[in-house]
Amino acid sequence: MSVRFTHENLPQRVVFASFEAADRLVEEVARLGASRAMVIAGTGAAALADSVTAGVPVVVRHTEVAMHVPTDVADRAREVAEAHQVDVLVSVGGGSTTGLAKAVALTTGLPIVAVPTTYAGSEATSVWGLTEGSRKRTGTDPRVLPRAIVYDATLTLSLPVEMSVASGLNALAHCVDSMWAPRTDPIDHAIALEGIRALTEGLPRVVAAPHDVEGREQALYGAYLAAVAFASAGSGLHHKICHVLGGMYNLPHAHTHAVVLPHVLALNAPAVPRLEQRMAVAFDARSALVGLQRLRERVHAPRALRDYGLRKEDIDPAVDAVLAAAPPDNPTPLTAANLERLLHAAWEGRQP
Ligand code: NAD
Repeated sequence: MSVRFTHENLPQRVVFASFEAADRLVEEVARLGASRAMVIAGTGAAALADSVTAGVPVVVRHTEVAMHVPTDVADRAREVAEAHQVDVLVSVGGGSTTGLAKAVALTTGLPIVAVPTTYAGSEATSVWGLTEGSRKRTGTDPRVLPRAIVYDATLTLSLPVEMSVASGLNALAHCVDSMWAPRTDPIDHAIALEGIRALTEGLPRVVAAPHDVEGREQALYGAYLAAVAFASAGSGLHHKICHVLGGMYNLPHAHTHAVVLPHVLALNAPAVPRLEQRMAVAFDARSALVGLQRLRERVHAPRALRDYGLRKEDIDPAVDAVLAAAPPDNPTPLTAANLERLLHAAWEGRQP
């Protein structure tokens, strides 16, 4: 089989160093030649951020962080950056905190060094998001890609197990959907498969022993790989379904991902037998679906969309909306009938 593709690597330094975030952050800030840092961290992460940034030349600490980056919150952060003439943004926190740093970088061009504390993965993408009222805008811009990431798994130890599982399964969905997403290529496959392997090892360890650093490390490593694969491959059928359901019925994001994923895998796996085999190996199971379901059981994953607010009568309108939004080259051709079956099974909690 010939190998032919175009792949773009995003330019970014990635440091994995448990227990060493403070020292490694100093190095990364110095590499940028920066001497006036703005630290962005929510009030909940203030103590953590203080210890991680102890050696950094900080001119201002900014704690106003809000989910989905409201535009007024972004504007105030930009004013603070300008008033203090900062030359680097250091974000310490989850996707909301990274998102605020990206919003500042978008208009100022300031470099970001990201220190993530969840498995969201925003630090590895050049996608930004801003919310005005109830309208969310997103876009892609190379200026918002953090120049460096410092991953220290000890910073994730305080992330509650339920949240860790939800965001870990969301990362797993990035990996699986990257197998057939519109811009996917063999490099995305390799990265996503290693992500599946790491998450399959890490997430059950996080559940069984939330304070085990090695389990957290594997989960964080897997989450990073998931974001890299997803950023390159784009949204496949799984993400389109979750996006439609979230938008139309306001279903919780992470739970929707966790419930829908096995159904999409069951639909597409027969059409991609070679990739299915490689996913099975990554899951360490005889088939990809068996591996995913075993992992879901071990981490007590959510099972049915009806538990999260979807009503039976919502399924038909969702079928139409998914058909309109779905990638045209999904491995298994989509029909109203197979989508209706998929959504019905996910609604009911019937396992594929
Ligand atoms: P988040 O940043 O809102 O954090 C969720 C909650 O967890 C917050 O209350 C936070 O204070 C707390 N928290 C974070 N780290 C913690 C820790 N180590 N210990 C204890 N509590 C901790 O949520 P998230 O899931 O990290 O990110 C979600 C956001 O990121 C969404 O807005 C999503 O759209 C965005 N996102 C963007 C991209 C992108 O590429 N642009 C990718 C993924 C997610």
